[in-house]
Amino acid sequence: MTHKLLNGWTEESHQRKASLVASGHDLGWTTWKSLNRLRVEQGRCKALMKVWNYTTEDTCSCGSVQTMSHLLECADAPRCSPEDLAEPTPSAVACARYWQNDI
Ligand SMILES: [Zn+2]
Repeated sequence: MTHKLLNGWTEESHQRKASLVASGHDLGWTTWKSLNRLRVEQGRCKALMKVWNYTTEDTCSCGSVQTMSHLLECADAPRCSPEDLAEPTPSAVACARYWQNDI
Protein backbone atom coordinates (compact mmCIF):
# COMPACT_ATOMS: atom_id res chain seq x y z
CA MET A 1 0.00 0.00 0.00
CA THR A 2 2.73 2.48 0.98
CA HIS A 3 4.75 1.50 -2.08
CA LYS A 4 1.71 2.17 -4.30
CA LEU A 5 1.16 5.58 -2.68
CA LEU A 6 4.84 6.53 -3.12
CA ASN A 7 4.78 5.52 -6.79
CA GLY A 8 1.68 7.64 -7.36
CA TRP A 9 3.25 10.58 -5.55
CA THR A 10 6.46 10.28 -7.56
CA GLU A 11 4.57 10.16 -10.84
CA GLU A 12 2.52 13.21 -9.83
CA SER A 13 5.74 15.00 -8.86
CA HIS A 14 7.30 14.29 -12.27
CA GLN A 15 4.17 15.56 -14.02
CA ARG A 16 4.22 18.73 -11.92
CA LYS A 17 7.92 19.34 -12.71
CA ALA A 18 7.24 18.82 -16.43
CA SER A 19 4.45 21.41 -16.30
CA LEU A 20 6.82 23.99 -14.75
CA VAL A 21 9.29 24.06 -17.64
CA ALA A 22 8.61 25.75 -20.97
CA SER A 23 7.05 23.48 -23.60
CA GLY A 24 9.35 21.85 -26.13
CA HIS A 25 11.86 20.55 -23.57
CA ASP A 26 11.45 17.11 -25.13
CA LEU A 27 12.92 18.40 -28.45
CA GLY A 28 16.50 18.38 -27.17
CA TRP A 29 18.53 21.05 -25.43
CA THR A 30 19.73 22.96 -28.52
CA THR A 31 16.27 23.26 -30.09
CA TRP A 32 14.62 24.07 -26.75
CA LYS A 33 17.23 26.78 -26.05
CA SER A 34 16.60 28.30 -29.48
CA LEU A 35 12.81 28.17 -28.94
CA ASN A 36 13.15 29.95 -25.61
CA ARG A 37 15.46 32.61 -27.03
CA LEU A 38 12.95 33.27 -29.83
CA ARG A 39 10.10 33.38 -27.28
CA VAL A 40 11.73 36.02 -25.08
CA GLU A 41 13.40 37.84 -28.00
CA GLN A 42 16.82 37.64 -26.39
CA GLY A 43 19.66 35.86 -28.12
CA ARG A 44 22.65 36.22 -30.38
CA CYS A 45 20.94 37.82 -33.39
CA LYS A 46 23.19 40.20 -35.29
CA ALA A 47 21.39 43.34 -34.10
CA LEU A 48 21.93 42.45 -30.43
CA MET A 49 25.50 41.27 -31.10
CA LYS A 50 26.12 44.74 -32.54
CA VAL A 51 24.54 46.39 -29.46
CA TRP A 52 26.81 44.26 -27.26
CA ASN A 53 29.87 45.29 -29.35
CA TYR A 54 30.63 41.77 -30.56
CA THR A 55 30.24 42.77 -34.21
CA THR A 56 29.79 45.83 -36.40
CA GLU A 57 27.51 44.00 -38.85
CA ASP A 58 23.77 43.56 -38.14
CA THR A 59 22.56 42.54 -41.60
CA CYS A 60 20.88 39.17 -42.10
CA SER A 61 21.60 36.98 -45.16
CA CYS A 62 18.29 38.25 -46.62
CA GLY A 63 19.45 41.89 -46.41
CA SER A 64 17.27 43.05 -43.48
CA VAL A 65 18.51 44.04 -40.04
CA GLN A 66 18.62 40.77 -38.10
CA THR A 67 16.65 41.42 -34.89
CA MET A 68 15.20 38.60 -32.80
CA SER A 69 11.71 39.33 -34.15
CA HIS A 70 13.10 39.31 -37.72
CA LEU A 71 14.15 35.68 -37.24
CA LEU A 72 10.47 34.68 -37.19
CA GLU A 73 9.79 36.34 -40.56
CA CYS A 74 13.12 36.03 -42.42
CA ALA A 75 12.67 35.17 -46.10
CA ASP A 76 15.66 32.78 -45.95
CA ALA A 77 14.27 30.63 -43.11
CA PRO A 78 11.17 28.70 -42.02
CA ARG A 79 8.69 31.27 -40.67
CA CYS A 80 6.45 31.16 -37.61
CA SER A 81 4.50 33.46 -35.30
CA PRO A 82 4.95 34.16 -31.57
CA GLU A 83 1.79 32.09 -31.03
CA ASP A 84 3.45 29.16 -32.85
CA LEU A 85 6.40 29.41 -30.45
CA ALA A 86 4.18 29.04 -27.39
CA GLU A 87 2.87 25.57 -28.31
CA PRO A 88 5.34 24.94 -30.18
CA THR A 89 3.90 24.08 -33.61
CA PRO A 90 5.91 22.22 -36.31
CA SER A 91 6.65 25.57 -38.01
CA ALA A 92 8.04 26.97 -34.73
CA VAL A 93 10.23 23.88 -34.30
CA ALA A 94 11.49 24.24 -37.89
CA CYS A 95 12.28 27.92 -37.28
CA ALA A 96 14.03 27.19 -33.97
CA ARG A 97 16.09 24.40 -35.56
CA TYR A 98 17.09 26.65 -38.47
CA TRP A 99 18.50 29.31 -36.12
CA GLN A 100 19.68 27.10 -33.25
CA ASN A 101 23.38 27.29 -34.11
CA ASP A 102 23.28 31.06 -34.70
CA ILE A 103 21.37 32.38 -31.71
ZN1 LIG B 1 16.72 37.52 -42.68
